[in-house]
Amino acid sequence: MAYCPKCWYPITVQQECYCDLCGWFGDPREILAEPGREFNLTHTVIRTLELYRGACREEMVMEHLYGLGNATEKDLQHARILTRNLVHSLIEMFVKLKVRPNIPQETLFKLPSGFIPYPETWEKHYNSNEPCDMLIGPCTCGAFHRDDEEWVQTKLIEHQAVIV
Ligand SMILES: [Zn+2]
Ligand SMILES: [Zn+2]
Repeated sequence: MAYCPKCWYPITVQQECYCDLCGWFGDPREILAEPGREFNLTHTVIRTLELYRGACREEMVMEHLYGLGNATEKDLQHARILTRNLVHSLIEMFVKLKVRPNIPQETLFKLPSGFIPYPETWEKHYNSNEPCDMLIGPCTCGAFHRDDEEWVQTKLIEHQAVIV
């Protein structure tokens, strides 16, 4: 089995790999042999949205059954309350992700080139033997880092950093 490096959804290994779930597109060398275990924001958000999708489907089925006289009003209410609660949790989650209070925010400034050097005060990140010297842009590790890379996103969240 192979898994998407971004959202851990199973994907088929081909010359060019494509993830049906999150739309990740890339080189087969980047895919994972096992789904990750650490906290993964993309994965968490996708799983939450899937849960919500399931609840919406449930509510729709319940409306249908109620229409046919095969479910009580209480059943219908129950399904509706569940979706509504989930919506509130989702909003809360997105607001928390956006605001994340109590931690001072760090601002990272883009160079005129649009690149961002790896902040010296952060614990080093290794992609190869050399620590990365770029957060966004052409790095000593040989990669060209983008801000949608999982590790970059994780670092930004950990450090409460925003890019301007
Ligand atoms: Zn994916
Ligand atoms: Zn690097």
